[in-house]
Amino acid sequence: MPSTSVKRSYLSSVLTCRCPRCREGKLFTNSTQASIKKNLEMPVQCSVCGQPTEIEVGFYYGTGYVSYALTVALSVSTLVAWWVLIGFGLEDNRFIYWLISNAVLLLLLQPFLMRLSRSIWISWFVSYDPDWQEHEADTPERMDVKQAGNW
Ligand SMILES: [Zn+2]
Repeated sequence: MPSTSVKRSYLSSVLTCRCPRCREGKLFTNSTQASIKKNLEMPVQCSVCGQPTEIEVGFYYGTGYVSYALTVALSVSTLVAWWVLIGFGLEDNRFIYWLISNAVLLLLLQPFLMRLSRSIWISWFVSYDPDWQEHEADTPERMDVKQAGNW
């Protein structure tokens, strides 16, 4: 049975985009980031424990704040790393080079950052249930799960 085979920590379940309730099921339908369109496709419910992936209508609008925070954090890290490794000077374009490199990096990481944002976001609303097999998943109050797939 899957429940006994893996015990993921909060961090590893978030980073690998797992369902926050059982930490087993995958949050995203496609394993590889084949296309930008398919990148964010999610199953209606967790395939392992039945946890709905969209708790309420427009649930993932809030991920904008998460991805913004991630982007800022990442930019600060590259800025510090650049400062230590390469440095900045008033007489040259090193600051511009950092700006460009950072923008390219953020662009390349965008598909991953978008997934990570959703994974972090849902982990704040759905808590881990080690005995998920014994209880049913909470069904969303303001949403019909059966209709969610038709969007
Ligand atoms: Zn699950």
